[in-house]
Amino acid sequence: MPDTDSMPDTDSSAEEDVEKSLLEARVKALETDLRQKKEIILAQHTKLEAFFESSIDALVQMDFDGHITGWNQQAAKIFGWSADEILDQRIEDTIIPVRYRAAHRKGMKRYLETGEASVLNTLIEIHALHRNGHEFPVEMSLSVLDSPDVQEFNAYIRDISERKHAETVIWNQANFDSLTSLPNRNLFLQKLEHEIRSCDRSNQSLALMYLDLDRFKDVNDSLGHEMGDLLLIEIANRLQKVVREIDTVSRLSGDEFTIILGNIDDQLAVQPICQELLDALAQPFQLDNEKVFLTASIGVTFYPQDSKDIESLQRNADQAMYAAKAEGSNRFNFFTPELQQRALRKRKMIGDLRKAINEEQFEIYYQPIIDLHQDKVTKAEALLRWHHPESGLVSPAVFIPIAEETGLISEIGSWVFYKAIEKASQWRERYNPDFQISINTSPTQWIDEAAAMSQWFAQLDELGISGQAVSVEITEGLLMDARDKITNRLLDFREAEIQIAIDDFGTGYSSLSYLKQFDIDYLKIDQSFIRNLDYEQNDLALCEAIIVMAKKLGIKVIAEGVETENQNRLLKEFGCDFGQGYLYSRPVPAPEFEILLDEWDQKEESGSTQVTA
Ligand code: C2E
Ligand code: MG
Ligand code: MG
Repeated sequence: MPDTDSMPDTDSSAEEDVEKSLLEARVKALETDLRQKKEIILAQHTKLEAFFESSIDALVQMDFDGHITGWNQQAAKIFGWSADEILDQRIEDTIIPVRYRAAHRKGMKRYLETGEASVLNTLIEIHALHRNGHEFPVEMSLSVLDSPDVQEFNAYIRDISERKHAETVIWNQANFDSLTSLPNRNLFLQKLEHEIRSCDRSNQSLALMYLDLDRFKDVNDSLGHEMGDLLLIEIANRLQKVVREIDTVSRLSGDEFTIILGNIDDQLAVQPICQELLDALAQPFQLDNEKVFLTASIGVTFYPQDSKDIESLQRNADQAMYAAKAEGSNRFNFFTPELQQRALRKRKMIGDLRKAINEEQFEIYYQPIIDLHQDKVTKAEALLRWHHPESGLVSPAVFIPIAEETGLISEIGSWVFYKAIEKASQWRERYNPDFQISINTSPTQWIDEAAAMSQWFAQLDELGISGQAVSVEITEGLLMDARDKITNRLLDFREAEIQIAIDDFGTGYSSLSYLKQFDIDYLKIDQSFIRNLDYEQNDLALCEAIIVMAKKLGIKVIAEGVETENQNRLLKEFGCDFGQGYLYSRPVPAPEFEILLDEWDQKEESGSTQVTA
């Protein structure tokens, strides 16, 4: 029997071979599997890395100890650190600005203790620190991986400097005046609201000032807009120098400024500031080689004493400022309830005035103008009257300035013109083919672009009467304002044969060279000179001089406001051409004026020269 132990066992060695080769195969398979898995993982990793690196956001990873564990290229780009330099460094020593580090530590600690963090999984805007030390705004979203295997924060960070800059530019444009860099109306209103709230909290008052430059338009027109701009910049500087840092100077528009004085109680405290502001502006402005002098008017109101409402406060300050202007400019004025009453009355009048034409509340009165050489009524002045439904007869001295201010004068003036030439046409037919009606015009009618004046010529044509049937009265000021538009209009009138009279002569510039230049037909000597003729030697001499001079220039003279027989006599002696005044007649409605013309006709026939009103 063979010793099986010592005999080679062919069967078992074959088995071993099989097992070995099976093992080898398994190892191989495992190796392949492993290799494949490795390749897959590698591929995934490469993909992830590519994703990580190609992100337009900076991706920063951090472990729970605050060390940086991940840092992509974009992070390197916006923070200035390469991955090699920053990995393993603490985040709070590198990209968090110093002033936020304590807060960061506190937040981390809280998260580790409680698992809560308000900044997780939302988009927040914060500031980050560049390697070179400058801070910049970023948008960040932060997530956390908190498992037994991985404990990591992931931050997606985007540099939003450009967007923030654009937002700032837009905000500045919306809130600041680009010329003076002062807050504009928008920001002024925000600040006013803010100041009012802080007054409420602290139980204090504030003063609101409106400051408007006097005659700035003239300065601007004469110096040119560039100089005007320089002037405004300098004005803004001076205003800011007078007030305290906490006060807000704003520019609302053109030459309109506001000042909010916080924490101020009464007029006593504001008065010296107003005076200082006026004084600061009264110093001459040196612009290139020009020295410019300027004044301003200021209106002041108090919160909460005068009003608690932001709109009323603005209106109050505006009214007070206008009152300062009306009192002669270069002064300040405090808001009072009477001012408000006055303004309310005015606002009502504006509303009423708008309705007056359509509701036929206007009537023209006529006052005769006497030819002193012939003792004959050859002209009349058309004087507007307003029959107000509640207030009765309102004087033109009251409503004309308001009509001028609101631009309503153009429509009213055209109405007067049309009604007056109708009458002129009738009276030329009935009484005297040379009869002429004198019509008052306001400067605004000549300046206003949309003025209906250009239609006046067509209206004369429509009635088939000559321009000689009318003369228009203008003020001296209009001639001084020799803008092309006005000069051309005056020439148009001349071409239409309409005559031109200077009203209230002697109260303005009284410049004779202008009269000559514009070929003026009549001077109306202002009634203030005629009134004093009886006893004022100066006025006597002045009237005589005006008459003599006008004669030399070929201009006819009309004396206004003749009330006494003595004035009538003196004017005749001086050779004055025409007289107008209560001595001859007050202004009267058209039907009465016709009776008056009849009487004058009869007087002429009976040879009487003595007239009474
Ligand atoms: P004005 O053009 O200087 O008119 C003369 C004013 O003196 C008139 O006042 C007239 O009634 C008044 N008056 C006439 N004679 C005498 C007199 O002997 N003594 C005194 N104390 N006054 C006399 P009225 O009618 O109140 O008109 C005032 C001003 O209103 C006018 O001054 C004129 O500037 C303006 N106005 C009147 N109607 C119109 C109009 O239709 N358009 C424009 N734009 N202004 C007008
Ligand atoms: Mg007049
Ligand atoms: Mg007059």
